[in-house]
Amino acid sequence: MAETQGKVITCKAAIAWGPKEPLVIQEICVDPPQKLEVRLKILYSSICHTDLGFWNGTNEAERAFPRILGHEAVGIVESVGEGVKDVKEGDYVIPTFNGECGECRVCTKEESNLCEKYQVDPMKRVMVNDGGTRFSTTTTKDGGSSQSQRIYHFLNTSTFTEYTVLDSACVVKIDPNAPLKQMSLLSCGVSTGVGAAWNSAKVKEGTTTAVFGLGSVGLAVAEGARARGASRIIGVDANASKFEKSKLMGVTDFVNPKDLTKPVHQMIREITGGGVDYSFECTGNVDVLREAFLSTHAGWGSTVLVGIYPTPRTLPLHPMELFEGRKIAGSVFGGFKPKSQLPNFAQQCMKGVVKLEPFITNELPFEKINDAFQLLRDGKSLRCILQIAKFLKR
Ligand code: NAD
Ligand code: ZN
Ligand code: ZN
Repeated sequence: MAETQGKVITCKAAIAWGPKEPLVIQEICVDPPQKLEVRLKILYSSICHTDLGFWNGTNEAERAFPRILGHEAVGIVESVGEGVKDVKEGDYVIPTFNGECGECRVCTKEESNLCEKYQVDPMKRVMVNDGGTRFSTTTTKDGGSSQSQRIYHFLNTSTFTEYTVLDSACVVKIDPNAPLKQMSLLSCGVSTGVGAAWNSAKVKEGTTTAVFGLGSVGLAVAEGARARGASRIIGVDANASKFEKSKLMGVTDFVNPKDLTKPVHQMIREITGGGVDYSFECTGNVDVLREAFLSTHAGWGSTVLVGIYPTPRTLPLHPMELFEGRKIAGSVFGGFKPKSQLPNFAQQCMKGVVKLEPFITNELPFEKINDAFQLLRDGKSLRCILQIAKFLKR
């Protein structure tokens, strides 16, 4: 039994104190897990664009400070609260921002992965058990002493900390021999993208696909479409430096909207004889979403919306446009039910069905987390792996 079990742990965390303020690494207290909760030691965490969005604090859901961001990680169970049966101390796990209770009306049906109790909720910032937080400060942001202040949770996870507490519905056990840094990618970006292609669009062999936004999520869509035998994968991005890497994920054609004198959808319709079978919006920009929608073939084209849209603007479509037979649907966490489907997906990745290694473009120590944020903001990284807690095994 861990000697820390049942006790408050003092450790380091990166705190977001306000919108666009550099994260501050400081000491915090992490309370023991309560009923059906799990406390994890975070080994590695990467940064997803959604972390950037919440750090920007553009809308009300995003403005809850101080907060511990981070949702893409891998860790070890330090201790579990009362009633937790499926994981135990020492298990290797990945946190998941979209949980699975296994018992509600959604979890017992195949159709959806949006668990009634633990689905991703951008407004949620406290634990369901008692409406409290398990994190508190020991010092002020400049290191002075203060009365302890509570720190908010984020997306069911909060991984930019050496220790975190989550609901056990948001923890997925993985093979202890799996490559841990790569497993961290399954916590969000790669599962989201590959799942959007496999589960949401159900990409078939020999079909054509357009992916808008070639960050990790978009490239994971491409990798998923490649693995399913798509014959043509058109990558659209305003940052030409993304194109070279994209070839590894099966992207066959590149379109930079900045180089065009006509709308992207027109260009895609021209080169594909009417439009692609599937398009995926992975930038979080509503105008790009319209281009993605219009890029598919009338009659059967299907658009999957993956980006997160911080603006209050609504879908830029006229209802009559849906009479042309194009479909559009959103996809959360790639449609994967985390606890029941991710372990199998992880096995497939380990067999090489999906290649994870190319997604890791940078590695930095935890202390350099603000540099890692900057790399993603500048479009210079896909995923930067941060080593969070020190550990010896590998
Ligand atoms: P990223 O920042 O690494 O990649 C975004 C890419 O889009 C970049 O390459 C950028 O150059 C490109 N881009 C941005 N604006 C563009 C434009 N107007 N035209 C063309 N290209 C443009 O981000 P990421 O981590 O890959 O995440 C992508 C999106 O997916 C984000 O909105 C993120 O919040 C969202 N997301 C959704 C889910 C989900 O479950 N639905 C999960 C994870 C991430
Ligand atoms: Zn994410
Ligand atoms: Zn459920």
